[in-house]
Amino acid sequence: MTEHTLTVAGVAVDPRHWIGGERVASAGTFTDVSPIDGRALGEIARGTPAEAAAAVAAAKAAFPAWAATSRAERARILHAIADGVEKRLEELAIVETTDNGALLRSHRRGVMPRVAHNFRFFADWSLTLDHEDFETRGHTNHVSWDPAGPCVLITPWNAPLMLATWKIAPALAAGNTVVLKPAEWSPLTASLLADIAAEAGLPAGVLNVVQGYGSEIGDALTSHPDVRRISFTGSVPTARRIAASAAPHLTPLSLELGGKSPLLVFADADLDLAVDLAVEQYDNAGQVCLAATRILVEETVAEEFTRRFVAKAGALVQGDPREEATDIGPTIHPRQLEKIDGFVRRAVEAGARVVIGGHRVDERSYAPTLLTEVAQDSEIVQEEVFGPVLTLQTFADEDEAVRLADDTRFGLAATLVTGDRERADRVTGRLTAGTVWVNCFFVRDLKAPFGGSRHSGVGREGGTWSFDFYCDLKNTVTAPKGWNDHG
Ligand code: NAD
Repeated sequence: MTEHTLTVAGVAVDPRHWIGGERVASAGTFTDVSPIDGRALGEIARGTPAEAAAAVAAAKAAFPAWAATSRAERARILHAIADGVEKRLEELAIVETTDNGALLRSHRRGVMPRVAHNFRFFADWSLTLDHEDFETRGHTNHVSWDPAGPCVLITPWNAPLMLATWKIAPALAAGNTVVLKPAEWSPLTASLLADIAAEAGLPAGVLNVVQGYGSEIGDALTSHPDVRRISFTGSVPTARRIAASAAPHLTPLSLELGGKSPLLVFADADLDLAVDLAVEQYDNAGQVCLAATRILVEETVAEEFTRRFVAKAGALVQGDPREEATDIGPTIHPRQLEKIDGFVRRAVEAGARVVIGGHRVDERSYAPTLLTEVAQDSEIVQEEVFGPVLTLQTFADEDEAVRLADDTRFGLAATLVTGDRERADRVTGRLTAGTVWVNCFFVRDLKAPFGGSRHSGVGREGGTWSFDFYCDLKNTVTAPKGWNDHG
């Protein structure tokens, strides 16, 4: 504990940057506020371009030794970080909930175990990276995944530690060093992770954390000539700024962005399953990039679907995310609440009918909302709300279903509910989406490619795809002759 240490839900959190294995303060700070009750949790270091540059310099200095460390040793340290995450799971869960308002029960049972799994999975996967040698006119081709250098990782607030570690783990396992810039609305667990990594024996400078506003330090990170990779999860407008900032150095980018994903319910579907999956889209108060916020139902079952949906959604418990019984917690920030409300008000003005919700519950939460009678080209159908707001449209046949489903600028995910396997295959083939779920939702294996098409992103991460991004792939071609023959 130092004079700087904050105590958040009983857990000590250092609000300073973590650069080159040391805590570094900034001249300025910003106030971190809990979405649960609007209470100030503490003052966080407000990074400047100088600290961003210092973090990149630390990552650059640490790179040669970490890159030269064997994959097996790197994997051992990543497993030790996973051990640390598991040991401090309760603390991470309550700090994350206090900081971003997502459900404590989800953090405990799903998210934080997944954080540990991110480290274990990519540690193990790095040991399997291998491409069979092949021959060209007697010459051997050997493919290797070389570490690329310092990586800048920029993450949003809706799943802070899960999304950060899904990038950190492969980047480190690949032999790169990292500068993490967490979102300013949820900065705390990144700081705890820095402590855990140091305790696990990760050398100084291999992982650095710079806190602060993206608008103030983002450019210093993304335009830096020593940065070899940028992986960003966040909104489309920020992605455009990052791409422009990275352009002069042609720094490779991975962009995981927003979505407006469809959930298609065909008349041959198990309607109870369809309703369960539709109501699940309110998880994390709708602050989920993958959320299927556009429900498309075949006309003949729309009335029955709506009846069952309203009954099921009506049973959701909205309240304090620390309570076990709560299904929907608060929205991250009053500004986000304002944004959600604006979307709904404009939709209603444009002719939408409110089936449920359509209003704030209090100054922190928005009621789960379903809007119908919405035009395909309207804002509410075309733009990501990032709140608990779903739209319902109907379709007459498969062609219309596909046309409506595919008609946005996004392409992150799609969910189909149907009892007809052939239909599922046909429709899947016609949709543009990084992930398609058939009769399920959110099931994801770290081996699989993850990302979005169109404005939902650039590139894919996951399994080997993560290493393809975080590494400089090299093909070495060796002639059959030319060796000194000492035999
Ligand atoms: P955001 O774009 O506002 O911020 C994301 C991060 O970018 C934050 O850390 C922020 O500080 C930083 N940033 C802001 N300006 C920057 C700049 N000029 N340079 C560099 N960094 C900058 O997004 P958000 O509101 O925090 O997150 C919500 C968005 O994230 C939604 O659109 C959601 O769909 C998307 N998201 C996508 C995925 C995915 O995997 N595809 C996952 C989660 C969230």
